Amino acid sequence: MEKEEIDFDGLEDAEFQIEEGAFQPKTLTCAQCGSKAKKSQIEVVVGNDVSVRADGFECDKCGKQYLGLEEAKKLDRAMIVSRILRNDFKMERAISYDGDNWTMRIPKEFAHSVHKKKAEIIPLGARQFCVSIE
Ligand SMILES: [Zn+2]
Repeated sequence: MEKEEIDFDGLEDAEFQIEEGAFQPKTLTCAQCGSKAKKSQIEVVVGNDVSVRADGFECDKCGKQYLGLEEAKKLDRAMIVSRILRNDFKMERAISYDGDNWTMRIPKEFAHSVHKKKAEIIPLGARQFCVSIE
């Protein structure tokens, strides 16, 4: 399998257009040429050896590819996980032990719209997890 270096910044102007408000669209009209776009499996490379197959649409005429909103969200998560595994994006924080638990301070940049004061922890491995704060 051919390895490919992914420039995550470059991915931001990717060739995918997200169909806004479309939860799971059944048909789609191509925004570029006006033709009908067919349901299609779109393979997106998100990391060195990671690619994700997502349900989307592809225009028969001009070949433009579209992803539904839910699929785009899945793809976002896949990119985040891939980024974590590559270790090229990280912050270091000290952890301390209070006798019962390990605690860690959360950078304030991630916490400016916290309402529920809850954290969701998604395990990724024995020593890795993903935290989402609400
Ligand atoms: Zn088209």
